[in-house]
Amino acid sequence: MQAGFLNKLNSEIILEDYEPPEPGDNEVTIEQKYTGVCFRDILTQQGFFPRVSLPVIPGHEIGGTIIKKGKNVKDFNIGDRVSSLIYVPCGKCEFCLSGNENLCPNKVAYGEGRNGGYSRYVNADERSLVKVPPEVPEETVPIAACVIAMLYHAIGRVGKIKKGDYVLITGAGGGVGVHAVQMVKALGGHPIAETGSKWKEEELYKLGAEYVVSPEREYNKDVKEITGQGADIVLEDVGIATFSKSLRSLKTGGRLVVIGNLKPEPVELPLGLIILKGNSIKGSISSTRDDLKKALELSKSQISPVIGNKIELQDINDGYANMLDRKVLGRLLIKF
Ligand SMILES: [Zn+2]
Ligand SMILES: [Zn+2]
Repeated sequence: MQAGFLNKLNSEIILEDYEPPEPGDNEVTIEQKYTGVCFRDILTQQGFFPRVSLPVIPGHEIGGTIIKKGKNVKDFNIGDRVSSLIYVPCGKCEFCLSGNENLCPNKVAYGEGRNGGYSRYVNADERSLVKVPPEVPEETVPIAACVIAMLYHAIGRVGKIKKGDYVLITGAGGGVGVHAVQMVKALGGHPIAETGSKWKEEELYKLGAEYVVSPEREYNKDVKEITGQGADIVLEDVGIATFSKSLRSLKTGGRLVVIGNLKPEPVELPLGLIILKGNSIKGSISSTRDDLKKALELSKSQISPVIGNKIELQDINDGYANMLDRKVLGRLLIKF
């Protein structure tokens, strides 16, 4: 069997022969049908995640069926379909003990601190797993944690959406954004989608976007016109290119939730504006097992996976290039 490896930063993913070791005492071996490809994988390749330990099998969007288990694993059995968090929490720190394991300072990320998803067989720690209900489509299984549960955390828990809230989603045509539109709808809000790709607009409307705005315009003015007072929540998934207009799209008391940062550069913060409007800016990272359970429930019927393309593992480097060129609408999956 072959798996994809990142051997050196800023170099291509290389396919090499790989046989996964037997699972550890608290681990299972998962057979995957698909694994997700995330923009974070590209940032990892470019060296933006310091905890990466090379060589590594990249990828953190993992799920599938358990085919082997270690001797201490009690809650999962061979044959169970599971979806994994993108990291293994320590289970002992104050964050883990209070159900906020997404903030665990000791967590180890798949595809960075330990081997990840670019392999048909993956050894996963039971602390990162949640069982998947039978109604959930197979394509949702790998992306449930990094995409759908992450959005539930950001919009539901951090953004504290209420029924009828207007939510502006930047980068709405990307793999995260297309699911964010559905999440806002599922939680009772009005999604406003921002995309720079004209060809993605129609698809965004089909997914439930009520309005689409363009970064070529001062879309903060468009958002004000649409909503009357401004957006209750902005889900910022782009970063420096959209941040200033996003902040100006908020209504008084509105919340800006930062989940993405495509180009890791600092942004300007107009402090006076934030004070005068009582706005808040919050980061939201990843998801917890509770979020993942909720995301899988919503994925039975309300949220469908939007898959831009299914590629072979050997085509992963072309896949990265297409993502960088914004040629993919929705998530890119590797099929095994
Ligand atoms: Zn991801
Ligand atoms: Zn912890």
